[in-house]
Amino acid sequence: MPQTQETVLEIDLKALKHNFEYIKSKLNSNTNFMAVVKAFGYGSEAIEIPKYLQELNIDYFAVAYVSEGINLRKAGITKPILVLHPQPVNFTLLIENCLEPSLYSAKTLKKFIESAEELQQTDYPVHIKFNTGLNRLGFWENDVDYISTQILASTSIKVKSIFSHLAASEDLEERRFTITQIKSFKISSAKLIDLLGYKPMLHMCNTSGIINYPEAHFDMVRSGIGLYGFGNSEEENRSLTPIASLKSIISQIHIIEKGETVGYNRGFKSDSFQKTATIPIGHADGIGRQYGHGVGFVTINNKKAPIIGNVCMDMIMVNITDIDCKEGDEVIIFDKNYTAEELGKTTNTISYEVLTSVSQRVKRVFCR
Ligand SMILES: *Cc1c(COP(=O)(O)O)cnc(C)c1O
Repeated sequence: MPQTQETVLEIDLKALKHNFEYIKSKLNSNTNFMAVVKAFGYGSEAIEIPKYLQELNIDYFAVAYVSEGINLRKAGITKPILVLHPQPVNFTLLIENCLEPSLYSAKTLKKFIESAEELQQTDYPVHIKFNTGLNRLGFWENDVDYISTQILASTSIKVKSIFSHLAASEDLEERRFTITQIKSFKISSAKLIDLLGYKPMLHMCNTSGIINYPEAHFDMVRSGIGLYGFGNSEEENRSLTPIASLKSIISQIHIIEKGETVGYNRGFKSDSFQKTATIPIGHADGIGRQYGHGVGFVTINNKKAPIIGNVCMDMIMVNITDIDCKEGDEVIIFDKNYTAEELGKTTNTISYEVLTSVSQRVKRVFCR
């Protein structure tokens, strides 16, 4: 990669391919692979990543909202796209863009059938979601009669898959709970299949589920965070490679005397001679104010430099008193070595949030 000259998020497509192949190696050869690319590909990038995954012949995509699915279609994604959390107000747009809805409630099911009939659809592919304990979205087991009656009364839709979502797939102390969820899913889906008279695909596992519950892979798995390089455990993290590196440069270095202060509200007060570096990345770029006052750090020439004082909208100041560096030197906010997960731990958050916080203002660059 060329020398960093401004704040960039570097995306390593080779690492993406590695992660895809590693997760795929955990599956039976006939298990379908759904890539979860919601929230701009977990904050990394919304278009090139799905396009590359399509080149790798991924079977399915998932996004959260209809607008995300439309962006994928505009970018030339032709594979099927599941919309995990659509709202009835967007059902017409969803159909016009050949997106496939998750139907998770009596209301979404009823409204979707109405929309599909209005647009004169037959056998439009839909996905029925069961709640098996996460208590977030989904039908209950005792809704199966209602669901099948509604579906069979119309020729406009056909169930392409039945699915559910695990609440604690990464937490082996919750193994018994997870096994109860898997059992509940098996019962609900079997009942629905029986009533429908045909067998849609079944799927339940996210990344940690793929790793920890091979008995629950069914016909397809849904991987998000694993593709981006995190496995929710130290052991899995060793096999995966973070695809995104957030980098910046030192804009200016200041010498701070004892008694001087740094930043807004004089957030840092110096009790001795210090050296600081100003970096062009702030809370508008995804480094929240919670990282200020010595909580978060960046890495300069392989040394940790704590963020001092208040995080500004477009800048942070870091302490470089003990670091040999100069203006223009590269600054790592996170990469393969100082990971987003490690940075997140300083503020009690997880890789998912650190990655999705990188705002669209930050330029994306690719290494292939
Ligand atoms: C986001 C999401 C996933 C992906 O989970 P990871 O832990 O990132 O693999 C899978 N299924 C559903 C329903 C989701 O909302």
